[in-house]
Amino acid sequence: MQMIQIIQYRNKCIGCYACAEASYSRWRMSRKDGKSVLIGGKKVKDTYLITVGDDELEENKKAVVNCPVNCIQIKKL
Ligand code: SF4
Repeated sequence: MQMIQIIQYRNKCIGCYACAEASYSRWRMSRKDGKSVLIGGKKVKDTYLITVGDDELEENKKAVVNCPVNCIQIKKL
């Protein structure tokens, strides 16, 4: 399986819920600050990162496209 890296620039998140709607298993909304949380993500400087299999690519591509502030990126590894 190919691996992909999902990157969230969380500071820019406006809590619109689009990513969580695109992928329930990878994103959830924080009750604390209303922004989305990349489930399993590791904080690296001002980003959150996770490497997952490309079986998650399609749903997370939707998150990328639907995020109104472009704070999610996907890299193919
Ligand atoms: S789609 Fe973007 S702005 Fe909306 S909750 Fe997810 S990361 Fe935040």
